[in-house]
Amino acid sequence: MSITLVFHGDLLYFLRNAPESTERRVAKVFERIASVKDLIESQGVPHTEVGRIELGGEGKIFGYIPNHGETIHVYPLTPPVNATKPSLLRPNPVAEVSFVADVNVGRLAKLLRLLGFDTLYDPSWQDKELANLASKYNKILLTKDRELLMRKSINWGKLIRSISPWDQLAEVILFYGLSDQIKLFTRCTNCNQVLEPVSKEEVLDRLEPLTRLMYNQFTQCPACGKVFWRGSHHKHIEEKLRRIAGCS
Ligand SMILES: [Zn+2]
Repeated sequence: MSITLVFHGDLLYFLRNAPESTERRVAKVFERIASVKDLIESQGVPHTEVGRIELGGEGKIFGYIPNHGETIHVYPLTPPVNATKPSLLRPNPVAEVSFVADVNVGRLAKLLRLLGFDTLYDPSWQDKELANLASKYNKILLTKDRELLMRKSINWGKLIRSISPWDQLAEVILFYGLSDQIKLFTRCTNCNQVLEPVSKEEVLDRLEPLTRLMYNQFTQCPACGKVFWRGSHHKHIEEKLRRIAGCS
């Protein structure tokens, strides 16, 4: 009994005991019968990172059970990944790009909301709840925990590799090709609710004197009531965005 899996490209990042080399592929030999997904994950590669599984040039699904002597090629998802499009490995695409974020990427969650992306986040959620939410609402799970991504119920997920939240944001935007879907300052960073326009009169008593004087357009979160306006910090964030993700 001998099955060979050849891991390609960025998947080498995940391999346990990957040899130090400049090769862009690593072969692993198995001597047991299991689904190709089990074999892949036994090497530390979450199924969520795999874009294509090939045998003799033909695509295979995660449940495929390799036969003796077969050599299977495993390729990473390659950006920009369109999560709204069905594929052989993921026949159930997301209806629209939205996220669930693990506590280890909490600041990234707030930044995604700042850009208008629906991002569920609660620092008290445990792995089981995160997996359930991602599965139930078919959202993309963002985490730094690769074991979490190996849960069977998770269809869409990404292991965040960058350290700083702004770099993580760039990683997500570029990976899913989202730069043209950014709606800056349309969602509450605290509660993920879509902000609603509110008249100046309605919020006048809650504004600082200088804000009252300088701004006329306001939005409000229907959940927490926080008031937002286009201030000087907007420009700063817009510039930062342009720099990191090449988007405006
Ligand atoms: Zn709010």
